Amino acid sequence: MVFPFNSVQDFQIKIDEDVEIFRRAVREVIENKVLPRWQEIEKNNEIPKEIFEEFAQQGFFGVGIPEEYDGQGGGQLLQAVLTEEVARAVPSLAVAIGVNHLFGIPILKFGTEEQKKKYIPPIARGEAFGAHANTEPGAGSDVAGISTKAKKVNDHYVITGRKIFISGAEKADYFIVSARTVPIEQAIKEKGKRWWGISVFVVERDTPGLKIGQRFNVIGMRGEQPYEVILDEVKVPAENLVGPENEGFKVIVTTYDYTRIGIAAQAVGIAQATFEAAVNYALQREAFGKRLIEFEMIIDKLANMYMKLEAARLLTYWAATLADAGRREFIIASSLAKAFATEAAEWIARQAIQVHGGIGVDEETGVARYLRDAIITTIYEGTNEIQRLTIVRQLVRQVFGMKI
Ligand SMILES: Cc1cc2nc3c(=O)[nH]c(=O)nc-3n(C[C@H](O)[C@H](O)[C@H](O)COP(=O)(O)OP(=O)(O)OC[C@H]3O[C@@H](n4cnc5c(N)ncnc54)[C@H](O)[C@@H]3O)c2cc1C
Repeated sequence: MVFPFNSVQDFQIKIDEDVEIFRRAVREVIENKVLPRWQEIEKNNEIPKEIFEEFAQQGFFGVGIPEEYDGQGGGQLLQAVLTEEVARAVPSLAVAIGVNHLFGIPILKFGTEEQKKKYIPPIARGEAFGAHANTEPGAGSDVAGISTKAKKVNDHYVITGRKIFISGAEKADYFIVSARTVPIEQAIKEKGKRWWGISVFVVERDTPGLKIGQRFNVIGMRGEQPYEVILDEVKVPAENLVGPENEGFKVIVTTYDYTRIGIAAQAVGIAQATFEAAVNYALQREAFGKRLIEFEMIIDKLANMYMKLEAARLLTYWAATLADAGRREFIIASSLAKAFATEAAEWIARQAIQVHGGIGVDEETGVARYLRDAIITTIYEGTNEIQRLTIVRQLVRQVFGMKI
């Protein structure tokens, strides 16, 4: 046993030639249509609609979505490669793609056939956008601590509550919303489980009572800022319940098991971009009559940056491979990849600034923006502290069959 895995074969990463062909095609689109516009996106804090139209035309929104729902097929690995290439240029654009999966995965994994047929194809074609509203003022990491309520009245539910930090909310056509169908005190009393009694719903944008509130002004990911979503007696049909009633906690945390591979891929894209920038600069900048790349301290930095970058990439592809193979152990791997890759990206981006000296902290250079974006990746879709909890809890459960 290769503790906690069973065999060295569990560490295989399988990538077909098609994936590399796809990656090159994505790179070309990104270099021609996205990268030249990064300054405009930073300045306006908005992604131009032509970029979304181009992505829809290229079928990028359908990557990882089954063909029967108008997607392009492929799994976590293909999605990770797309995300990495997009984040290498404009990380917030990768978030815009990621939120569609935060909406789609709960439906694809737990939804009814009717829900899949109704909500997934427009998302896959890039004609509609989804968002995922779970976080609240009183509960982020503690998913079971949410207080938004959903009351069943005949053939519908009435949802009231407030969600914050919801990415993509402003342009979303559909929302995944978590709410308590049983108060937490009652869940503890009746089932002895805090997490029980949560349910998940699809709420359509134009449903009366749903309002988009304030926009948060976060330090990075300019172009994709999160919003407050207010639900005031929002009436949704009972058929919009996703997964079993009161079991919605599993729907939410299972979704993050998958989507955090995408966050790791965002981080790999950020790390790749900043590492490349540092190497290019160190090759051309001269100081004390030598190129920077000839100084031992710069060589040490570049070597360490590169070690972390490739380790992050391998963990991310490995987690995606395990997820695509349907292996339960992908949960540990995706947490390892998310925590490691996001911390690596933050560190690599910081070193890249240092290698650039003064112009590294000048916004026009375009390196500093990646550091702000990298910090955000350490927080959403489960903070890195929560990833560490998941890693050890899963490991103990997997190997010793114990719950901690
Ligand atoms: C830019 C951005 C976009 C976002 N987009 C979305 C979105 O689309 N949808 C959505 O629902 N949410 C979204 N979020 C919310 C995000 O998922 C939460 O911010 C995150 O899960 C942390 O929750 P919190 O902010 O409430 O922090 P808290 O849970 O209050 O945590 C505060 C600190 O305590 C630590 N902590 C908490 N519990 C533990 C514990 N048990 N052990 C050790 N440490 C712990 C945390 O790691 C953190 O360091 C977004 C956030 C940001 C910043």
